Amino acid sequence: MSFYVYNTITRKKDEFIPVVPGKVGMYTCGPTVYNYAHIGNLRTYIFEDVLKKSLEYAGYKVKHVMNVTDVGHLQSDGDEGEDKMALGASREKKTVWEIAKFYEEAFLDDCKKLNVKRPNVVCRATEHIKEMINFIEVLEKKGYTYQSNGNVYFEIDKFKDYTKLANLSIEELEAGSRIEVDPNKKNPLDFVLWFTNSKFKNQIMQWESPWGRGFPGWHLECSTMSMKYLGDRIDIHCGGIDHIPVHHTNEIAQSEAYSGKKWVNYWMHGEFLVLDGGKMSKSTGDFLTVKRLEEEGFSPLDYRYFCLQSRYRKQLIFSFENLDAARKSFKALKKRIATILENVCENDRFNNENINIYNEKFKKQISDDLNIPNAFTVLLDVLKDENLTNLEKKFLIEDFDKVLSLELTSVEKDLSNIDVESIENLIKERNEARSSKNYARADEIRDQLLKMNIEILDSKEGTTWRLK
Ligand code: AMP
Ligand code: ZN
Repeated sequence: MSFYVYNTITRKKDEFIPVVPGKVGMYTCGPTVYNYAHIGNLRTYIFEDVLKKSLEYAGYKVKHVMNVTDVGHLQSDGDEGEDKMALGASREKKTVWEIAKFYEEAFLDDCKKLNVKRPNVVCRATEHIKEMINFIEVLEKKGYTYQSNGNVYFEIDKFKDYTKLANLSIEELEAGSRIEVDPNKKNPLDFVLWFTNSKFKNQIMQWESPWGRGFPGWHLECSTMSMKYLGDRIDIHCGGIDHIPVHHTNEIAQSEAYSGKKWVNYWMHGEFLVLDGGKMSKSTGDFLTVKRLEEEGFSPLDYRYFCLQSRYRKQLIFSFENLDAARKSFKALKKRIATILENVCENDRFNNENINIYNEKFKKQISDDLNIPNAFTVLLDVLKDENLTNLEKKFLIEDFDKVLSLELTSVEKDLSNIDVESIENLIKERNEARSSKNYARADEIRDQLLKMNIEILDSKEGTTWRLK
């Protein structure tokens, strides 16, 4: 079965044909680690996770590489504004290195909670400075760069097709980027490859280079690191839609200038999550995080479920009301699944043909540019299909969950519905039964608790319990 993806550069749904049959090289732009990721950022990472898992479900072996931006990203995606890492450091009175370490860990923790699988390679910009310098040297030899006021710039007029990804004219790109006129640039859309004589005199992160002590421009890291880990032909490159006109446009220019060939075959971009009242911005500090959702009583998987209800190329409007509606529907789904699981019998029929029919239906939806809402419909069809045994249903639910990653078969760990007092009374009674050597009664109570999904643990310190 063919796999189709919407390709930003061709502006249509294209059949996915990898460079190497059966394998996928996939690069996704990672976080700038100067603050927590907001739930908008995380929508994009969830989309990329589902893409990777869908390709795996369709039988591909995926190598996924993601960068961590810990240097060089200014407030605007062009070369204007303050340095984001330095802003984070002064906000929290820490060093940029401490900030980078802290927020990288926080980001990876959030991903874990959302069941976003860690990429095969997670690479930091600051650990690839040598490669970035080599990259600029090649561009310099090929005549794509110039130096002005101490900085090294990429000259976009030397690269034909600069506008091909955004499908905008140079004038439209200029208008969209609201660039302050930088007298050092030949063309306002030229971008910095290496900063030396920058406005950031107190920049802590600096390295020696052939052009003087300094640090790399932001766009460079993605081209350099993706080529290091995936080679100079990449199947899929992803990010949020904001990256199309500047970051990804610049990545293409420098990568294709460097290698002299086409770089990425499929560009995939996730639409934004927007708040009911407008945009969410990481730089203003006014944004929602996974932690905030948890404080409001939502689980990270409620949020994943919420994201999966709409297609990745559609804008998604967030409100707590919408999230609450998603949580209710997620709970109802898990409840239906729990009933099926409770009724699975050891000698239920297991017919591979039944399984294959639904596998194919599910695959058809995810291969249609990730039609996840329709994939959920296939799941619902499984739940209500009277011709399937509960064992077959269980298998299919677990199988679809390889892509959805919603822990559909795990038991709700909801303490709010549990009568703690009666559990503790039963444990007390069991302990008394054991003291009087009435082991039959003690075992009976253990079994009774197990049926309530309560597991008891005996130790020297006494007996404790937990939800299974
Ligand atoms: P950043 O850490 O700012 O570099 O962004 C990380 C990822 O989140 C990038 O792929 C962005 O395109 C994406 N992104 C930023 N804001 C949003 C949003 N509101 N909704 C969805 N994705 C976003
Ligand atoms: Zn990037």
